[in-house]
Amino acid sequence: MNKDLSHLVRIDTSAPESESQASVQGQEPSGSALLGLDSEALAARMMRAGEPAWRGRQLAEALYHQRIAELSEITTLPKSLRQRLIAEGWLVARPAITQVFQSIDGTERYLIQCQDPEAETVETVWMPEGDDGESSDDSEADTPEILRAPSFPQLLPENVGKHKPQPALLHEEKTRPEGRWRRATICVSSQVGCAVNCQFCLTAMLGFRRNLSAGEIAGQVIAVFDRHGIEVGRDRVNLVFMGMGEPFLNYDNFMAAVRLLVREVGLSPQRMTVSTSGIVPGIERFAREPAEFRPKLAISLNAPNDAIRGQIMPINRKWPIKSVLDAVRQVQLRPRERITFEYVLLGGITDRPEDALELARLVRRTGLPIKVNLIAWNPGPGIPCTMPQLEAVEAFRSALVGAGIPTSLRQPRGRDIYAACGQLKRTVEG
Ligand code: SF4
Repeated sequence: MNKDLSHLVRIDTSAPESESQASVQGQEPSGSALLGLDSEALAARMMRAGEPAWRGRQLAEALYHQRIAELSEITTLPKSLRQRLIAEGWLVARPAITQVFQSIDGTERYLIQCQDPEAETVETVWMPEGDDGESSDDSEADTPEILRAPSFPQLLPENVGKHKPQPALLHEEKTRPEGRWRRATICVSSQVGCAVNCQFCLTAMLGFRRNLSAGEIAGQVIAVFDRHGIEVGRDRVNLVFMGMGEPFLNYDNFMAAVRLLVREVGLSPQRMTVSTSGIVPGIERFAREPAEFRPKLAISLNAPNDAIRGQIMPINRKWPIKSVLDAVRQVQLRPRERITFEYVLLGGITDRPEDALELARLVRRTGLPIKVNLIAWNPGPGIPCTMPQLEAVEAFRSALVGAGIPTSLRQPRGRDIYAACGQLKRTVEG
């Protein structure tokens, strides 16, 4: 708990000079990989190959709407052109779901392999019916029902660690029986591993490996959409950038992925939420993003004061709570938008009655439209924390609600398959 993070947080805080510069900075994939390029960049690449610009738009349609993962299968391009481009080394390079772990609650955790020479893997999680805490979904997150969130379910010993690794589904199986789920949330990773070293998080134990490219971040969403036969505009899907990694330490690629998902895939940024551990220059930069490309913001707060937060989140020593809140105030919120404060309840550390009262005072003092999303800590091997007692969780939630703080309790989805918050560590053993 005493690591100095100053070496980890050297990030570029300067704003890009222009939109196009930002696009190129964040989005140009390595080699001849195509996923990650927007229509404009694909058109430019086609023109460099001696083809008309509209061929680039055909490529974008194939990658982002038809969700075709192999260049050889893009039949809107003439076969001879496909063969030539493949011979020249062009490839889609979409991340591939290589393992599926299914939870008893319907959650699926995917091991997703990047198409890089190291074949790095990251994790992405599919949660049918969401997790009752995603702040992208105003229609439900602010209702009284959520203030009376269901009781914290018991983690049954017989359910722990039981998962069913499955091969990725074949194309024919990618159907969604009507009525199987009404909405879903996808939790997306932004880095391989993480440098922030939150003491309650399994991902932290991996350390930092590398940033994901824009194509690798957006590609997780496209791969999961493909698996579940998602129809944009019909299906209600929220994205939360809360998987492996700290998105604001990979700012350019993260935002380039968001722009791709908005412009090319057709998703609304209001159905996306990015969570940060409190990277102040990243929040300040985020505050300057245009609303059309800005997801909602969640701050992973997890403690009511600097003393406790500094112990469980070393990043707090670099950017204490006040500096984070000052940066958050710079974000121009949309009507009805709220800032979410995520708060992990650690038994005996952050779940005490006095913590709830101090937290209520802290978030009220911000003067911002906010809500608190409580998360009962999810256990993981090697982490010296304890789960909060059911009574403590209920008392904490009641204290916040009693203090007039909009509060939700995130359901612990996929805990039996290490898919819940803070559990993503590419675990493949039982
Ligand atoms: S909680 Fe998030 S920011 Fe903290 S170590 Fe885990 S992945 Fe990184």
